[in-house]
Amino acid sequence: MFSYRHAFHAGSHADILKHLVMIHLVEYLQEKPGALTIVDTHAGAGIYSLTDGFATVSKEADQGIYRLAKFAEGNSISSGIASYLEHIRSENNTNEIAVYPGSPFILAHLLRAQDRLKLFELHPKEIDILRHNISQLKQSKQVDIYAEDSFARLKGLMPPPSRRGLVLIDPSYEDKQDYRYLETAIEEALHRFATGCYAIWYPCLSRRESASLPDHMKKIAATHKRSCLQVELRVENAPKERRLQASGMFIINPPWTLEKQLSESLPILVKALGQDGGASFVSKSFEV
Ligand code: SAM
Repeated sequence: MFSYRHAFHAGSHADILKHLVMIHLVEYLQEKPGALTIVDTHAGAGIYSLTDGFATVSKEADQGIYRLAKFAEGNSISSGIASYLEHIRSENNTNEIAVYPGSPFILAHLLRAQDRLKLFELHPKEIDILRHNISQLKQSKQVDIYAEDSFARLKGLMPPPSRRGLVLIDPSYEDKQDYRYLETAIEEALHRFATGCYAIWYPCLSRRESASLPDHMKKIAATHKRSCLQVELRVENAPKERRLQASGMFIINPPWTLEKQLSESLPILVKALGQDGGASFVSKSFEV
């Protein structure tokens, strides 16, 4: 436990999919003026250098954000990808992308005056970095930071006072039990706040717990009579390689606009980020 540091993966293809979907969800939910509570259950450090430290060891951004930014220079892109790139560029002063904002920074920048952001982080080093990073933001007074196990705490925050909420769940799955904790946390949260929007990131791996996650989520959503959407992005198909080649998001109570946005963005992401002929996407809606 606690060997995972998100800096190794900052700006990867998985971050791109997750943050693209997340931005769309927030923008949709903000179409109404009522206050929005956003819970980011697995926050990480908030923002990452891509030019020194862990990110330069793994170089995942080379096949992720750098590849997409270059593609966008010479090709037409969807409004969703343009909005996502704008968020990444707004953290960088020059044309060069030297830092990559994680979910807490992107979400903090999206907050309107009436919104609140709640961040959870358990890692003893990441929590200090997160607190420091968030304290630099002008939105910091709208952000609560908890050094607590979010799987255990989530239900206590549901429903949010305004009854309008987005929960981003982005575990590292470092602990195999995370799959089970996730299911329990979602069950409990839906029980208390059935109309909330829940966005769960997952890695597409052959390991049993990972492969069965979407089906388990589908069952939970169906039990609670909630519609849901599953999206996956694969950038290569090299079964012998151990690196992460595909990831997905499972969204419970997705906005009706999400599927259309994804149908515009996913083919472009496959073109921009695909590394071999196995690059592909999945986008499936399940209505109740
Ligand atoms: N959401 C971040 C982003 O998109 O920029 C990345 C988060 S990273 C994948 C997962 C983080 O969750 C790690 O920093 C890890 O220390 C933290 N974590 C793991 N288990 C946790 C738990 N039960 N509660 C809160 N944080 C946890």
